[in-house]
Amino acid sequence: MPVLADVAGRCDVAASRHWVFDMDGTLTEPVHDFELIRRELQIPSGADILEHLASLPAQQAADSHAWLMQHERELAEASVAAPGAVALIRALHAAGCRLGILTRNARELAEVTLAAIGVAECFAVDEIIGRWEVEPKPSPAGLQFFAERWQVLPAQMRMVGDHYYDLATAKAAGVPGVLVNVPDDPWPGMAQWQLRDCAQLLQQWRAAESR
Ligand SMILES: [Mg+2]
Repeated sequence: MPVLADVAGRCDVAASRHWVFDMDGTLTEPVHDFELIRRELQIPSGADILEHLASLPAQQAADSHAWLMQHERELAEASVAAPGAVALIRALHAAGCRLGILTRNARELAEVTLAAIGVAECFAVDEIIGRWEVEPKPSPAGLQFFAERWQVLPAQMRMVGDHYYDLATAKAAGVPGVLVNVPDDPWPGMAQWQLRDCAQLLQQWRAAESR
């Protein structure tokens, strides 16, 4: 059993066996053009897309969601893995870690994406939580779902993401947040750790495992 805390007993980024990942832009190269989506669906610039769709009359919301699903399906099928993402997921899976996906995308498209980058077998379908399974990020509901399901304290988990919403979700749930794939630190004080990418996170994991 690897020792995962550092010599001072301080919790380090790799000291967890319960990992929740954002998907788009975290495990994959970012391809979502959210402003394009807003333009196509006549959503005000900067507005929360899912919140806006939820506020529309039923038929208009259904039409917009249908367009969004088709658009996102095309993106999902063409997904490319982010640096180190596949190796990280496979290493954590091989080590017996619990792995979840928490995405504002739809579960069925998350499955398409994870298959496209070659890690589908590392995730149980009911541990892929999309926008219809729980209240979407930045609500802490998704992380609360995993804490309950895995019977762990939020502090024992890690939420890995590339967006402010991932960090806000983590903070609201009391889960340490790990920011990847973002240069500089655009949201000071939000992430517990910031790493260059999943490749660097894998290095930290391996270093902790070998201690
Ligand atoms: Mg993302």
